[in-house]
Parts: sequence; C-alpha cells; structure tokens
Amino acid sequence: MELVFELSKEGRGCDLLPSCDVPETAISEKFARVSAPRLPQLSETDISRHYTKLASRTFGVNKGFYPLGSCTMKYNPRINEEVAGLPGFTGIHPLQPEHTVQGCLEVMAKAEEYLCEITGMDAMTFQPAAGAHGEFTGVMLIKAYHEKRGDIKRTKIIVPDSAHGTNPATAVMAGYKVINVPSDPEGGIDIEKLKAVVDDQVAGLMLTNPNTVGIFDKNILEITRIIKDAGGLCYYDGANLNAVMGNVRPGDMGFDVVHLNLHKTFSTPHGGGGPGSGAVGCKKELEEFLPKPCMGKCGEGYGMCCDRENSIGKVKAFYGNFLVVVKALAYILTLGKEGIPEASKMAVLNANYMMQQLSDTYEAAYKGRCMHEFVLTLEKLHHETGVSALDIAKGLLDEGIHPPTMYFPLIVHEALMVEPTETEGKDTIDNVVAIFKKVYNEAMSNPEAMHEKPVKTVIRRPDEVRAAREPVLRYNFD
Ligand SMILES: *Cc1c(COP(=O)(O)O)cnc(C)c1O
Repeated sequence: MELVFELSKEGRGCDLLPSCDVPETAISEKFARVSAPRLPQLSETDISRHYTKLASRTFGVNKGFYPLGSCTMKYNPRINEEVAGLPGFTGIHPLQPEHTVQGCLEVMAKAEEYLCEITGMDAMTFQPAAGAHGEFTGVMLIKAYHEKRGDIKRTKIIVPDSAHGTNPATAVMAGYKVINVPSDPEGGIDIEKLKAVVDDQVAGLMLTNPNTVGIFDKNILEITRIIKDAGGLCYYDGANLNAVMGNVRPGDMGFDVVHLNLHKTFSTPHGGGGPGSGAVGCKKELEEFLPKPCMGKCGEGYGMCCDRENSIGKVKAFYGNFLVVVKALAYILTLGKEGIPEASKMAVLNANYMMQQLSDTYEAAYKGRCMHEFVLTLEKLHHETGVSALDIAKGLLDEGIHPPTMYFPLIVHEALMVEPTETEGKDTIDNVVAIFKKVYNEAMSNPEAMHEKPVKTVIRRPDEVRAAREPVLRYNFD
C-alpha cells in the first residue's frame, strides 16, 4: 500500500483550515521558517480514501470475532467513549485547584467505592497504568506490610506454574525469590505441593482465579488459608475478573490485595498500547501503604487531603489514567447491580458452549467446566500430521477471524487459548465453530498446505522476532 507521502502530487491540496478570524501578526525572524514544511499534498478525496484503506486493514473487535485468550477483547460500548470525551473531563489540568474539579474527583471516589464493592476490598488506587504495573504496586504493599512489622525474613513469593508471565516478573522486580508450584491434572493448584513449599519465609502468594487455563480453583479458601496461617498475604491478579465480577469477590476468597485491568474488564479497548489502568485495591491492613497522593472527603468536598505516612510513594504522575476510570464508572453504572454479574455469566456460558461444540474435533486441555476461557491442546494433531497450533492459527486468519492466543499457558503443549467473551451472540459462535472445524479438517486432509498459511492476508508469515525488535515505524525520505 502506498504511503501518504508517496501519494503526494505537487500543487494538490484542499482547504481544510477555516479562514483566519483574528488579526494576523508578523512572526519574528528568529522563529520564522526558512523553508516550507514537508507536508504531503493531496486532495480531500485522496486523503479520505487513504485513511479508509488503512482502517480496512486494521483488525478489531468491530470487524470480527477476536477470541484472544487472557485478553478479554470484548466489545466496549461506544457510549462510554462519549462520556469520557465530555469537555468537563478532557479539558482539565491535574494542577487545577481542587474546588474546580469536584465532579472529576467524585468520579474517582464513586469508581473506587463500586470497584471495592465488586472486589471485596476496602481501599483503592488508580495510579498504576496497566496490569503489570498494578501487580508491582500490590506486591510493594505486601513488602511494606512485612517490613513495617519488622518481619524481614520473608524473601519468597509463591506463584503457580499456570500464572501469567507478569506475575513471576513482578515478584522478581520487587526483590523476591519466586517459588513455583505445579498445577494438578484438573488445572488447579496442587495442594500438597503448595504445603510443601510454604514456610515462614513466604511473603505471599500471587494467584489468578479463575486461572490462566480458565479453571476456577475450588480449593481457593484452603489455599489462601494455608498462606495466611504461615503469615503470608495473598495477591489476586484480577485480569480475569470478567469471569466472576458480581458473582464472587476476591476479598471473600481470602485475598488481601487485587489489581484490576480496567482496560480488559471495564470498557477500555486495548491491544494497541493505548492508555490502561491497573487499579489496585486492598484490605484495611494495607491501606496505609497505598500510593500518594490519596483522595478523601476533606471539609466540604473531595480533595487530596488524606495523609499516608507509610505510603510506598508515587508509582505514576498525578492520579493515573483518569479517562479510563471515567469509562469504567460509566460501564458499571450502565450495567448496574444486575448487569455486572449477568455479563460474567454470559462470558462463562459462551466459553463453555464453544468448548462443548468443538469437543468432537479439538481436544480440550482440561475436560471439566471452564470459566470465561478454555485451552485446547493440539499436541496429538501435531504429532500425527506435523500441523502445529501456529499453523491452525494462521489458517484461521485466512478465514477472516482473529486467532486465539497461542502457546500460552506454557504448561499446555501446542496450546490455543480461546476467550469468546460475553459480547458475542450464538450465531457468531456457531459460525466460528464451523470455521475452526473446517480448518481442522483441512489440516487432516492436506497438512502440507497448512505450513503455507495464511495466503489471503496482506502480510503472510513475518519474522515475528524481527518485527518486534526492529520495527520500521518511520518513512525514509532519502
Ligand atoms: C493481561 C494480564 C496481565 C497483565 O496486564 P497488562 O495490562 O497487560 O500489564 C496480568 N495477568 C493476567 C492474568 C493477564 O491476563
């Protein structure tokens, strides 16, 4: 596809700027340009077609099914974008006097109140900009808690082998040694192996429930009890909250700290590296360590008046990505007390329905009921035909749908991890199931052809490492 500079023709243009309605002022020589700016010269039609063509090459949830497991790529209602775009929210400055932004502060206070209610926590910060950032903040709270008590022998964090890669990375960043616990055949934590590694050097456990294989650990109360009895704290990775929100609360499962991915569960589109929010909630005992500045009711209204002497400090400038919080609040208020649990139930129903519909063709890694996502293993297919999970994923691209997450979690071989989300209807899922089966049958009848896929996309099989490490993002004018 030609770039906008390549489409440029000398002398072409269009009048897009309104005519000047203020007196013209001469610019001093010092600031004046010496040459014309290098701008592409195009007609309005050229520009419109160029960007429409670009947009048509982008794949998003508005274009089709996007079952990227562990990512919750659900449809985010446009109304929440409209709300976050209101001038009262976008036209403010973080250093503005507090009495002029009472509405915005109230948005944060309300969002904190509702999200604490949903998670069973007592206080929350919106500073962290993403899930991994929230994990780091949360684990630092755990660290501050033990340090304040003078309990400095705790140097380990327990992480199950099914965990998202950010969990062990976070523990290491916070200065801890990671202790891995294996999963049992049903996909939950192996309780006996957990007991074997727990001692008085354990600072805490990091867990997501439902976990990364889409299984709700039915031993969760026993797991958190084992950690508590040994003097540790429990961290809940809430990136999978979409599976349980409004139905069960991390606080009631025995967790002390949680992070939420507002950009997964609460209506901020993600995937392009845009602003996120890894809100962190905690129980009363940890509140004094939350980041500063913190907001509270001060006198007449809201303000940054509360003082946290033992705070871990700032983890991000000002208050985090405020507009993401606005969207989360708009989403919660739209769905309400009935809609929030309903959304979760639909996400779980859709995943179970799809897994069941595929079960005569694809092998599920864990056979029982799943929560919001399920993992397929293509180990047998790979062994028999040489067709890998990657080949199947590439085959799905030719059918116009986004492939599931591949090769994750690491404990499942030739994994495809599917998360249909609650925003897909039965017709879409039925259609996608038929496509999954069609690609599987192609793999059985003509395995060689699968290694060539995709054949219908603009770019076929890029070198993924080079594409990530040496991206060419700038037009070379020479
Ligand atoms: C997405 C995810 C994270 C990390 O969130 P980011 O916002 O990408 O940093 C952590 N844990 C789990 C289980 C996730 O799915």
